[in-house]
Amino acid sequence: MALITNSDKQWQTPDDICAHVGDDYAQHHGAIVPPIYQNSLFVQDGANGPYTYSREANPTVEVAERKIAALEGAQGALCFASGMAAISSAILHFVRAGSHLVMVGTAYGPTRRFAAVYLKERLGVETTFVNGSCPQEIFDAVRENTRLIYLESPSSLVFHMQDLDAVSAFAHSRGIGTVIDNTYATPLHQQPLLHGIDISCHTASKYMGGHSDIVAGALAASAEIVESIRKNERELFGACMDPHQAWLLARGLRTLPVRLKRHGESGKKVAAYLESRAEVVRVNYPGSATYPQKELFARYLTGTNGLLSFQLRTTPEQVRRFVASLRVFQRGVSWGGFESLAWPVSLDATPGPERPGAAPDGVRLHVGLEEPSTLIADLEQAFASLRESV
Ligand SMILES: *Cc1c(COP(=O)(O)O)cnc(C)c1O
Repeated sequence: MALITNSDKQWQTPDDICAHVGDDYAQHHGAIVPPIYQNSLFVQDGANGPYTYSREANPTVEVAERKIAALEGAQGALCFASGMAAISSAILHFVRAGSHLVMVGTAYGPTRRFAAVYLKERLGVETTFVNGSCPQEIFDAVRENTRLIYLESPSSLVFHMQDLDAVSAFAHSRGIGTVIDNTYATPLHQQPLLHGIDISCHTASKYMGGHSDIVAGALAASAEIVESIRKNERELFGACMDPHQAWLLARGLRTLPVRLKRHGESGKKVAAYLESRAEVVRVNYPGSATYPQKELFARYLTGTNGLLSFQLRTTPEQVRRFVASLRVFQRGVSWGGFESLAWPVSLDATPGPERPGAAPDGVRLHVGLEEPSTLIADLEQAFASLRESV
C-alpha cells in the first residue's frame, strides 16, 4: 500500500525514481501522468482494490509515497497534510506519557515548541535540548525513560550536523527510537535510514514540492513503523494528504534532481560572493570551504542546495534595512521554491526551546532558480544602500 512495490524496484537511481516510480500506464488508459483520484471513498462490492476511504489510503497519494520511499531506500512512506503533521506523528509514535526525549536545540522552531511546551504540558514528557555536534553530549543526556532521540541534520538556519551512524548505533543498543528531520538534504542528498535512523521526516512544502504552491509533509520508515503510524497517528489525528496536493507533490518530485542541482550550483556562487564581502562576518553554508563540519558533510551528504545564512557586521536595524532593500529576493520565511527569498534572523544557536522575536544579527537567504548574476547584483546594491545609510 504505502509500501514500495516490486515494480518500483526496477528504478534504482534517484533521477529514474523521481521520474518513473508510481507510473502505471496499463491501469490508466496509457496516461503518461497518473490521474488524480479525487475521491473520499471507494465502493466495496467485493471486486475492487484495496482502497476504502482516503483518510486511510488513496492511490494518488500512494504515487508520491512510493517515490519518497524509493528515494529514501525505505520499505514505505506516508504523506501528510504538512511537514509538522509528519513530524508530530513520528514523535508521537515513540513517546509515551511521562517519558523523556533528547532533541537537538537547532531543530525547526515549531518542532521544539511541540516538545518543550505541548508534550510537556499535555503528556508530562521532558525534553533535553542538546547541541548535538558531539555524539557524547547526546549520549550523556539520555535517561532511563528516554524513548526518542530527535535529530535535524543539517539544521535549517545554522546547518549543524549530527553523526547519524554514532547516534543510531547507541540508540539501538538502548532500545531508543531515532527520528530525523531530513528536509534540508532531501532524500536525494541524504538517506538517513541507511545509517540506522528509524524515521526520516520531511516537509514537502520546501524542495520536494518545489513550487511554493503546497503545504505538505512525509515520513519514510520500515514497513512495521509505517503501518503503525498509518493506523494510529495518521488515521486518528486525520492529517492525511489530499489527492490534489499529492498530485502536485509527485509533479514536483519528477524535477527534484534538476532543480536541486541548479539550486546547489547557484547557492555555491552566492555563498562565495558573500564570503568575499567585508561586511559579512561569517557565511553558514554546508559544502563551503569554511563549513566547520566538513567531515560529516562529506560522509553523509552527496550535494548541497540553495539555503544559506550569513552574519552581518552591523546592528539589527541595519540587518532589517539590508533585507528591505533587496529587489529580486522577496522577503519571506519559507524556502525550497523557485523563487529567491531573504529573511532577517537571529543566528544564536544556543540549544533550547523556540525563541521567536530575537534581534536579528544575520540573514537567511534562499537562492532560487533565477540567474545567479541577477541575484549577486541584487545583493551588491543592498550592500551599497547599507553603506549610504551609515
Ligand atoms: C518548514 C519546515 C518544517 C515544517 O513544515 P510544514 O510543511 O510547514 O509543516 C519542518 N522542518 C523544517 C526544517 C522546515 O524548514
